Amino acid sequence: MVSSHSFDAIVIGGGIAGVSVAAFLAEDGVNVGLLEREDSLAYHTSGRSAALLTPYYGPDAMRAFARIGTPFLESPAFACNAPILSDRNTLTLVEEDLAIAIDRPPKSVWLSERECLERVPFLRRGRYIGGIVDTEVASIDVHELHSVFVKALTSRGGKVFRNAPVTQMTQAPSGSWQVSAGTETFQSRTVINAAGAWGDEVAKIAGISPVGLVPKRRTVVVIDASQFSDTKFDDLPFVIVEPDYLYFQPFGIGQLMMSPIDQTPSLPCDAQPDELDMAITVARFEEVSTLKVARIDHSWAGLRTFSPDGNPVIGWEPQKAGFFWIVGQGGYGMFSSPAIGRYAASLVAGSDLPPAYESSGFQFNTLSPERFRLC
Ligand SMILES: Cc1cc2nc3c(=O)[nH]c(=O)nc-3n(C[C@H](O)[C@H](O)[C@H](O)COP(=O)(O)OP(=O)(O)OC[C@H]3O[C@@H](n4cnc5c(N)ncnc54)[C@H](O)[C@@H]3O)c2cc1C
Repeated sequence: MVSSHSFDAIVIGGGIAGVSVAAFLAEDGVNVGLLEREDSLAYHTSGRSAALLTPYYGPDAMRAFARIGTPFLESPAFACNAPILSDRNTLTLVEEDLAIAIDRPPKSVWLSERECLERVPFLRRGRYIGGIVDTEVASIDVHELHSVFVKALTSRGGKVFRNAPVTQMTQAPSGSWQVSAGTETFQSRTVINAAGAWGDEVAKIAGISPVGLVPKRRTVVVIDASQFSDTKFDDLPFVIVEPDYLYFQPFGIGQLMMSPIDQTPSLPCDAQPDELDMAITVARFEEVSTLKVARIDHSWAGLRTFSPDGNPVIGWEPQKAGFFWIVGQGGYGMFSSPAIGRYAASLVAGSDLPPAYESSGFQFNTLSPERFRLC
């Protein structure tokens, strides 16, 4: 039997983008229903990230969102069971040719090769002249951050529907959207597209032109320290080998996660690691280190989704009333989620934005999908 629900706003997608905007809307007193196709939330990109807060990484929009959202990550405005951030430094290894060109965060410190080796004892000698340490970064407890938003939503009366794939959307002459998802139907004046890699697919279901999103696959390989004698990973920094060659960082207990920083264009899908990309990851790690990898413990891949200009798409769709976009967060959607969620919720609910947005100096209205509708 088909059951029907009515909300002030429907959010499509239960990743970090969907749950964050839903939580802030609920805070503004909006009655929200969140629809997720899978039987668990954060199954796709949001469950597959490197979980790093890097305020000096990515486009200006993301740097602004990072600055505005960091106080929330440090001390969430919603109920929280455990700290979201923990200490992590990045160490960017630099070859002689790149030393002048490299983009240095403001408070970063230069380390000699010897000092790099003290921090990462298995680095191959002679390849890097040194490295840049950035201490203004942190690790994010992604599970906790996502749960904080879900609890903030549900404790304010918001509803989460799992196994709810949106397959049909029509708009009545009154402006009200009718949304079909599985065996349920939903009515709302506002639909929020937070469908990640499927953002353009969801727009098409609503009869709206795509904005040109490109999901890009990134591979992660995890190895265990137990296969090496006398090697520990737990105290390492997040090591980046430029230019876009490899990164690795401690993961779980006694493990190391690494990525070849790949970005292979993909269709929206349940991304899986490609054998060749995994082999490239291990080969690069063996090239920059003195360790020989005998065994991969596990691996995954995730889709980082970009708009044509690399900036997120956040705002009302000009082609049809009541359709709002939050997509294209690329590789920055986790740390930017508190500030993007608050910004989007304020546009949808018509509530005041905190002063930090204006004082950031960034023109957030340039992120509207309107920029793709002018030509
Ligand atoms: C390897 C990797 C490393 C990364 N590292 C970092 C990092 O260090 N720091 C950082 O900030 N970011 C990082 N990111 C990026 C970050 O993970 C993403 O920007 C963020 O997770 C995107 O969240 P989302 O909610 O938009 O997408 P998703 O988590 O993919 O959520 C979209 C949801 O929409 C649902 N959906 C789609 N279509 C429908 C439909 N028709 N009906 C119902 N539901 C639907 C999907 O099932 C999915 O659950 C990384 C990403 C990857 C892959």
